[in-house]
Amino acid sequence: MGIIRELSDSLANRIAAGEVVERPASVVKELVENALDAGSSQIDVELEEAGMKRITVRDDGHGFYPEDAELAFVRHATSKIKDEHDLFRIKTLGFRGEALASIASVSKVTLRTRRKETDGLELVLDYGSVTERNPVAMNTGTELTIEGLFFNTPARLKYLKTTHTELAAITDTLNRIAFAHPDVKIRAVHEDKVLIQTNGSGDVRQALASVYGHQTVSGAVVATGSNADYQLRCYLVKPEVTRASKNYVTLILNGRSVKNFALTQAVLNGYHTLLPIGRYPIAVIEVTMDPLLIDVNVHPTKREVRLSKEQELCQLIEQTIRLSLSKQTLIPKVVEKPAKQKTEQEKIDFSVVADPFEATTNSESTFGSAWNYPIPKRTEQLVTPVSQEKNEAERTSESGQVEARRKFPQLDVIGQLHSTYIVCGGEEGLYLIDQHAAQERIKYELYKHSFGKPHADSQQLLLPYTFEVASHDMTRIDEALPLLKDVGVELEPFGPQSFIVREIPTWFPSSKQEETIQELLDEALDKRKVDLATYREEAAIMMACKKSIKANHPLNHEMMRRLIEDLEATEMPFTCPHGRPVLIQWTNYELEKLFKRVM
Ligand code: ADP
Ligand code: MG
Repeated sequence: MGIIRELSDSLANRIAAGEVVERPASVVKELVENALDAGSSQIDVELEEAGMKRITVRDDGHGFYPEDAELAFVRHATSKIKDEHDLFRIKTLGFRGEALASIASVSKVTLRTRRKETDGLELVLDYGSVTERNPVAMNTGTELTIEGLFFNTPARLKYLKTTHTELAAITDTLNRIAFAHPDVKIRAVHEDKVLIQTNGSGDVRQALASVYGHQTVSGAVVATGSNADYQLRCYLVKPEVTRASKNYVTLILNGRSVKNFALTQAVLNGYHTLLPIGRYPIAVIEVTMDPLLIDVNVHPTKREVRLSKEQELCQLIEQTIRLSLSKQTLIPKVVEKPAKQKTEQEKIDFSVVADPFEATTNSESTFGSAWNYPIPKRTEQLVTPVSQEKNEAERTSESGQVEARRKFPQLDVIGQLHSTYIVCGGEEGLYLIDQHAAQERIKYELYKHSFGKPHADSQQLLLPYTFEVASHDMTRIDEALPLLKDVGVELEPFGPQSFIVREIPTWFPSSKQEETIQELLDEALDKRKVDLATYREEAAIMMACKKSIKANHPLNHEMMRRLIEDLEATEMPFTCPHGRPVLIQWTNYELEKLFKRVM
């Protein structure tokens, strides 16, 4: 008795319609997903000419009953759902019963399959019609071979891109599947090149390493979190390894790799200021939830899904990642690039380790050049040096971020290089600190902390500043006022289109006050719909930028020591608010290697 049934018309009509197979990568995806649904522990994929000539997918899953083989190629015939009730509780990757029918209609298919309790069977179809049915001897499982894809649909064939592009799409598809199913051994070979090979150990990090290389993935962090509806497991490659696109963020919801803008954004927000502008992380985010909360029936290839409580999940992702990364020591290590041959995957994703000196765009040109360090509040501490333990205790009571701070190495200042970098020694090697980036981080946290309680500490201005607001902004100013108030700027009406500011917080930068207020005002008008937290954040970055020392500024030993002390006291000392590294390290081992003391 077979298990595949044709869906009723009414149910078939409720299934998201559209083209399932548009390119070789979609065929590979559907076939591999079928193999996973069949409970396989090993899946082999063979490709010729990026799948255009031949795709073979072999699995050791449960196989087909002989009486099901033909039915499997009928549209809307499936063993995975029976009625509408099942449509809301989908636990398999497939459920539409369309893939094999669609694939068979545009190719030559050979199916070889055997269930444990039956004999093996071979079925050959030519563009949708069965031409042969033979017995075969084989182990339990299934092998599907697709040849001459789209030969009968020249319009589609013409639309295909180069072999290289199609192959990249297949590789991307397989990588995501491998991350979602680390317990399955997946191997794919294109002509004589291995595209991917995982060991089925069940560890996502091993799957990641087989795709991106061990060096890239070493030190990846696993962060977990949950709320009433969602369980989350994030595999985060350290932020010094970045990519130029968001494509390396993989979202896996109940075992299915999906695309979702809001969730991807939440991942990026979780990395917060740790990434340089225009660079993105490598991360795998695994979410499990009740199938009732996820609607997979919105897109023909099931790549996009709808979530009942998307906002809550976004928050959970962002917080989990942020908390976990804040506890890590994130100092990029200087490593000699190994002279080894690159793997196929690395050839596709070059730039394995981000260059810490890589130029990024930011508003550096607007920085003031005046040396306006130190931050006054710390004076007493500087005069009477306190012991390390006392420092630690004080910090604990300040914000409870001890763990993050303890990860900061103990550094001794050696000197300054090019009036730009502070050279330090520590137990674990040699460090260079970018003095500008360090100060930006310190100031950013100081301002962000001060925003929100500006009136604790404010000063009257002898000469109030006046600001004009463009007439088209006058209608929006009411929405901007609360944001400004939050950062300590209170506008009083002064004529039809002007406002004055009589008072500002004492911690406002003392030079360029007027310009700073103007920028805060512009930003508030621009961003009037954003929440306070976002505004504070952007305003703090802007002010930190303005007030931080540039490169090319000589510092004496004491100034450097204090800068490092204040850096260590920040919540996230390893990057500036634009995500550039603040310090880099040559480990003792690297130094020994460079001097050929070790080989
Ligand atoms: P769906 O996966 O949506 O059910 P498909 O057209 O992909 O639809 O497959 C039709 C049916 O063929 C599946 O429901 C399943 O019963 C069977 N099938 C497909 N591939 C395999 C496989 N590799 N092993 C066992 N059964 C399979
Ligand atoms: Mg399927």
